[in-house]
Amino acid sequence: MRCLYLKKATGPQPISFCDCLPDEALIASPGQLNCPWCGCGWLFSCTHCRKAFTVATAIESPFSLRELVTADVERYYKSTQAEDVVLPRLNRMAFMLKHVVPGRNYVYLDGAVHEVGVEINFAGEYGSHSFRQAPHGEPGATYESLRGPLGRDYWLRAAGKPPNTCYSCGELWPEMFMVPNEDWKKYIPASKRDKMICWGCFQQIVNHVGGRLPKPRWIHKVAQ
Ligand SMILES: [Zn+2]
Ligand SMILES: [Zn+2]
Ligand SMILES: [Zn+2]
Repeated sequence: MRCLYLKKATGPQPISFCDCLPDEALIASPGQLNCPWCGCGWLFSCTHCRKAFTVATAIESPFSLRELVTADVERYYKSTQAEDVVLPRLNRMAFMLKHVVPGRNYVYLDGAVHEVGVEINFAGEYGSHSFRQAPHGEPGATYESLRGPLGRDYWLRAAGKPPNTCYSCGELWPEMFMVPNEDWKKYIPASKRDKMICWGCFQQIVNHVGGRLPKPRWIHKVAQ
């Protein structure tokens, strides 16, 4: 019994650690955890090598969905698994693949697959998303360019987590940076050390104290 399934696309992959041939790189059941920003919430993984890639093409497989999911599970666990392991993955896959059209390209985002270039408005497993098109399906997307649109702060916002603010000026979602611990202790009062501060306010404090501005390590830029 045939089914619709997804395999690695032959075209450009913004991020791909999988070197398998597209025909052997079928998508695995999503392994999304509570850290979707690491990629587990927006990349596919390959059933063959288990490594991540970004864009997949819908195909008609000669196998049934149950056969494909069972094979994926057995390869993952290196043994046959009981129905209570297979069934949730089978159901999730059936839901994910319900609307795919053979020959079209898709990316994964938060429990669902989305056609490349098509508007996204949906509530996923972790948060709510609204994009004119999937950022990781855009031509020219790179790991660097996706750190803002699909980075940690994006996901926390999508999940409706309270926004980060600078404790000094109240700026929302200040760009995150790190400085050596001893500098943090030197310039930031003990009661504020677990808070966030924007780089501008941090500079002001250092200047005010007459200290030496440490070289920051930037975490990533937050796209607004
Ligand atoms: Zn993760
Ligand atoms: Zn692979
Ligand atoms: Zn500030």
